[in-house]
Amino acid sequence: MSAKPRACRNCRRIVVGKTCDVCGSSNLSTSYSGLVIILDVENSEIAKELGIRKSGRYAVKVD
Ligand SMILES: [Zn+2]
Repeated sequence: MSAKPRACRNCRRIVVGKTCDVCGSSNLSTSYSGLVIILDVENSEIAKELGIRKSGRYAVKVD
């Protein structure tokens, strides 16, 4: 059994599992496009733009 990564519809975090570890949402989607890896939220323009507050992998767009 392989866990397919899904994207949180609430905060766009890439999640492996049933709930998002950032916002706790279980509203996840297998349909997403783009992938950004945020390593340093404090100094990342992309993180600011996407409203990301925790480092990790995020989808750019979630359907
Ligand atoms: Zn989330």
